[in-house]
Amino acid sequence: MRQFFALSLAAVALGATAQVAEVPWTVREERTPIHADPDRTSPQRGELLQGEAVSGEIVRNPETDEEWLAFASSGETWHVTTNDLIRVHPVNLAEGDLPIGEEIVTRWWALRPDYEPSDLVGIPPAWCSDADREHRLRLESMESLVAMFQAARRDGVEIRVTSAYRSFESQRRNFRNAVRRLGPGERQVARPGHSEHQLGTTVDLVDPEGRHVLELSFGTTPQWRWLNEHAASFGWRQSYTEANTAETGYDPEPWHFRHFGQPATAEAVSSASPEIASD
Ligand SMILES: [Zn+2]
Repeated sequence: MRQFFALSLAAVALGATAQVAEVPWTVREERTPIHADPDRTSPQRGELLQGEAVSGEIVRNPETDEEWLAFASSGETWHVTTNDLIRVHPVNLAEGDLPIGEEIVTRWWALRPDYEPSDLVGIPPAWCSDADREHRLRLESMESLVAMFQAARRDGVEIRVTSAYRSFESQRRNFRNAVRRLGPGERQVARPGHSEHQLGTTVDLVDPEGRHVLELSFGTTPQWRWLNEHAASFGWRQSYTEANTAETGYDPEPWHFRHFGQPATAEAVSSASPEIASD
């Protein structure tokens, strides 16, 4: 059997207790095939059904870039693709709306499939790139975003929203389309439950002319430069950067910002920054 690289889970392990580390993955789709190797062309060994729990180690197939969960059963090591799995972090099982900034959502930790904040409100259409479509955020995040956009406007910079809250189901559709388009190892769209957009505190931002929509080139715009300098003072951070690709498992996304709540002081902003790898 070929050697596969174990992923660095350092980011997930930060602050995680042994109990958290033992949380199993659950089959999210109706069924998922079990393979001998972390490879779709390897022999199949039956399947797991929706809701079944499975624990093991994440491995990556370097040829397809697809992630698999390797698990032991009957003295053998078997594999299922993480594309069909979900793992809900215990912090996210709390009743009701989760405290903003304390939710844990990564490539390896998810929200509950039925999590939908109760305080979602529409972002005023004037701040959205397509006024016909309603974009929603949690009330506190929407108010903070508008205050940030108004501050940018005073500095002569116009910023718009192109995507905000997404339900588990709409993320599921996005993910399926991305896999169809880019293959099972795609890294642009998060698996359902594992997207920060389900929090209702996360936005994709664009320039008003729409010349840099979900493009790396957004990182060269006056809009991004303004956000890079000022977003933290409003409690917002770019989630996926050049610096944290290994920890987050996602490529840099200069347009994707998440609200962590209003920092109390300037010191709180600077001391919070190094924790970006563990969010
Ligand atoms: Zn995004």
